[in-house]
Amino acid sequence: MLMDWDEMELQRGMAFTLQERQILGIHGLLPPKVETQDIQTLRFQKNLKKMTDPLEKYIYLMGIQERNERLFYRVLMEDIEELMPIVYTPTVGLACTQYGHIFRRPKGLFISILDRGHVRSILDNWPETNVSAVVVTDGERILGLGDLGVYGMGIPVGKLCLYTACAGIRPEKCLPVVIDVGTNNETLLKDPFYMGLYQKRDRSQAYDDLIDEFMEAVVNKYGQDTLIQFEDFGNHNAFRFLRKYREKYCTFNDDIQGTASVALAGLLAAQRAIGKPITQHKLLFLGAGEAALGIANLIVMAMMEAGMTQAEAQEKIWMYDAHGLLVKVRFGDTWDVHSFLDAVNTIKPTAIIGVAGAGRLFTHDVIKVMGTFNERPIIFALSNPTNKAECTAEEAYTLTDGRCLFASGSPFGPVTLSNGQVFTPGQGNNAYIFPGVALAVILSGVRHISDTVFLEALAEQLTDEELAEGRLYPPLSNIREVSVQIAIKAMEYVYSKGMAFHYPEPMDKNGFIRATVWNTSYDSFLPDTYDWPGVSFKPK
Ligand code: NAP
Ligand code: MN
Repeated sequence: MLMDWDEMELQRGMAFTLQERQILGIHGLLPPKVETQDIQTLRFQKNLKKMTDPLEKYIYLMGIQERNERLFYRVLMEDIEELMPIVYTPTVGLACTQYGHIFRRPKGLFISILDRGHVRSILDNWPETNVSAVVVTDGERILGLGDLGVYGMGIPVGKLCLYTACAGIRPEKCLPVVIDVGTNNETLLKDPFYMGLYQKRDRSQAYDDLIDEFMEAVVNKYGQDTLIQFEDFGNHNAFRFLRKYREKYCTFNDDIQGTASVALAGLLAAQRAIGKPITQHKLLFLGAGEAALGIANLIVMAMMEAGMTQAEAQEKIWMYDAHGLLVKVRFGDTWDVHSFLDAVNTIKPTAIIGVAGAGRLFTHDVIKVMGTFNERPIIFALSNPTNKAECTAEEAYTLTDGRCLFASGSPFGPVTLSNGQVFTPGQGNNAYIFPGVALAVILSGVRHISDTVFLEALAEQLTDEELAEGRLYPPLSNIREVSVQIAIKAMEYVYSKGMAFHYPEPMDKNGFIRATVWNTSYDSFLPDTYDWPGVSFKPK
């Protein structure tokens, strides 16, 4: 039962009770005061408020995570709206670019291409034996920042923080992994603080073999129903691995499927505001990568559910990528349109969805013109981090006189128009979806995750008042509740379709989920002590 002092401090700091301090033999190693978690939380909140630099906040928060995990989650959950942009996009992106420079202590598991044949023994070094969720990246496309190699570790760490903070998945059940196969980032290859292999990305069969070995080792050690989330892989590999593994493992790709789900949720909310069914919309994407294809695929599914044929639904979707307009997504030929503005003018979409990761490409002209043929244009600038967004919230609202329905990937503050009208832009943050879906998947023992789970999990979360404020997503401060609602819907769906393997099926899923989720109160360290009343050891 005795742990070392470091480990104990990690559990609860000054919140140890007098009895615990005495029994554990740590009395005197702490100041006399027995502190409540409330006061501990307040201290960290006050210190955080004093900091102005987001990266400084990130380092400070991650320090709390190392010293007192429950306190970290308490602080994070109490101020999720403020702090999610720190542990996740946009600040996590900055932290990743600086990873080797701000490094304190390693977090997560690092597996390199040189470890082929030994992945299982590396997994065996991970101290937890009961992992249910893995988030893995190879660092090739971190947010919209490109190849950051092992510096990408910030992403799986940050995503898994949200599994816990948003959906109450126990932190020790979460495993962040970076697969290091090199990096093509010249800056990093020259960086003396870089922490991965100083080599170009291995694109040979060895890479595929390593990922195969990794998948096999994970389910071998933690079970077939271990959730493995792929995150921020390069475009080509992301699609390839999703196709290759989706029937064989319990896996999803958040950049493709999570993004699709959150974008569709935003579109469905927008359609509610506009009063025009999804089947009457025409969507033009900027970008034709993971996010765009994932979203388009799910929209087609939603349109088909609303009665259209696949061909009819596909006619409604257009894409414009670095090479120009893809006239027919299915055939991939290009048309004589010379700019995105041309494309907007030609197609006259009801919605433009920016997922190119290439910065401010929704120009003022593009936004204005969207407002000429749409009473309520839908403008989604989803690229991350903030400086990659296709336009700002302010541009979208001012250039359409407040008529647009706007969402972005990274957060923007409220916008006040010159007439005093205030709009609260929605953040199309995948965190509305993936923690709840992950929770349902883990609790139901799902073996494969189909796209339909992402379609069916969407719960209507917005009140009419919120919609009127310009919101397409509920406030982030409600995210715990959003995740529970999504988990309920996803669980109902997977059980009804026979995709769940945990029996018996909990009939009251709402109650079951709420009773299962992790909370941040401290466990007692006292051993279970009790009397044997009336027992006598005197020989009779
Ligand atoms: P990706 O697979 O690399 O796709 C990027 C796409 O954008 C490609 O089709 C690329 O075309 C195109 N593109 C690049 N530069 C362009 C330009 N100047 N003009 C037009 N198209 C251009 O990346 P992804 O995973 O889809 O992610 C893209 C962005 O979306 C990132 O910034 C990411 O952070 C963001 N994202 C946001 C969310 C969210 O908000 N919920 C979720 C996921 C991703 P080529 O292939 O021809 O180069
Ligand atoms: Mn991502």
